[in-house]
Amino acid sequence: MKITFLGAGREVGRSAIQIQTDTEILLDYGYKQYKNAPLQEKYPINAFNHPKAKNVILSHAHLDHCGGLPLLFENQNPRVFTTPPTIPMINLLLKDSIKIGDAAFGKKHVQKLFNNIVKTKYGKRYQLSKRTTFTLTDAGHILGSAQTMIESEKKILYTGDLKTTPMMLNKPAKPEKTDILIIESTYAQKDHPDRFEVEKTFIKEVEKTVETGGVALIPSFAIGRTQEMISLLSMNGFEPFVAGMGLKVSEIYQNYSNYLPNPGAFIKALKKTTPVNKKTFPKTLDSSIVVTTAGMLEGGPVLNYITKINKNSKIFLNGYQAEETNGRMLIEQGKIKINNQIIEVDTPYQFFDFSAHPGKTELVNYVKKTNPEKIFCVHGNEESCIAFAETLKREGFNATAPKNGETFKIQ
Ligand SMILES: [Zn+2]
Ligand SMILES: [Zn+2]
Repeated sequence: MKITFLGAGREVGRSAIQIQTDTEILLDYGYKQYKNAPLQEKYPINAFNHPKAKNVILSHAHLDHCGGLPLLFENQNPRVFTTPPTIPMINLLLKDSIKIGDAAFGKKHVQKLFNNIVKTKYGKRYQLSKRTTFTLTDAGHILGSAQTMIESEKKILYTGDLKTTPMMLNKPAKPEKTDILIIESTYAQKDHPDRFEVEKTFIKEVEKTVETGGVALIPSFAIGRTQEMISLLSMNGFEPFVAGMGLKVSEIYQNYSNYLPNPGAFIKALKKTTPVNKKTFPKTLDSSIVVTTAGMLEGGPVLNYITKINKNSKIFLNGYQAEETNGRMLIEQGKIKINNQIIEVDTPYQFFDFSAHPGKTELVNYVKKTNPEKIFCVHGNEESCIAFAETLKREGFNATAPKNGETFKIQ
């Protein structure tokens, strides 16, 4: 068996891992958004040299995992296994990438991809070849997210993006015994604050903003976070406006609500929201709450709102703010860029740690339960992947932070 890292080696973005058994498998095929990098560095290694692919297993519907998939259909037809809720979500994401001119592929590639998708259930074992099977289980990260267990001469467990403690809309991922573990390292250097406390402070601040006549502007990722915000606000008696791609994703969450821990609560929460677009823009925004894309302030309706809200308003950042994004620039310099113009933002902002990834302690506990003989730490910045491998070595494990392009023989 061989494992080659084509992306996500000491970086977040363009996740792509090739597994060779008696067949060929690609785990994810992502795209590195936001970075000011040449095209080749945004897609997995060799993405433009028609890499051979027979089977692709997609862990979940985030661009850093699915954004390169259509490139595989330039001159071949791999099967793509993924969970049912993931399919409509990647349809939205990939078509949006084309629309905003951010894709190295076209509609025909996306169409070919959809012709080759195999709806894959959690907990069912699929035979890929004579000596290789795989099984997906819930990864607890977003709707439909999956961990992959490949079984051939050895067992390989790939976590994809993971959450091992429960969130409002996700059941936690369960660890399983394995020989080889490929694990995400996004927050391997720190622990997250207690989620319940974060929620309490968040709600208190929203209340304060609305009471003083301001707008609580909540820029949120379309997939997962928007729906979590809707649920949290509804539980506390608020009825927010919702704008941007998060609206369409919320419909998908509703259609696949049987995947949620409490479907009734989400459907009820969604009914209390008011969808807004350019045509139905509210007459006055005073004393209101707006949940809108994009979570890192990179495009989407949020930029429109930022220039319109009154002086008592507040911006509630609630997700990862990648380098070279408006969100990061706001935190570091109090400025953002709209239509190539830098503008000063006077509205105060606050960051809330609502991460959908495990912190250091969660990660280490998870690894102990899977008890592997070899561990690869991926999907984190360079420092994070290396530090995680070091932490695991101190715990007595054989761990490495592979670089992109590296191949490992497994015996
Ligand atoms: Zn993710
Ligand atoms: Zn990811």
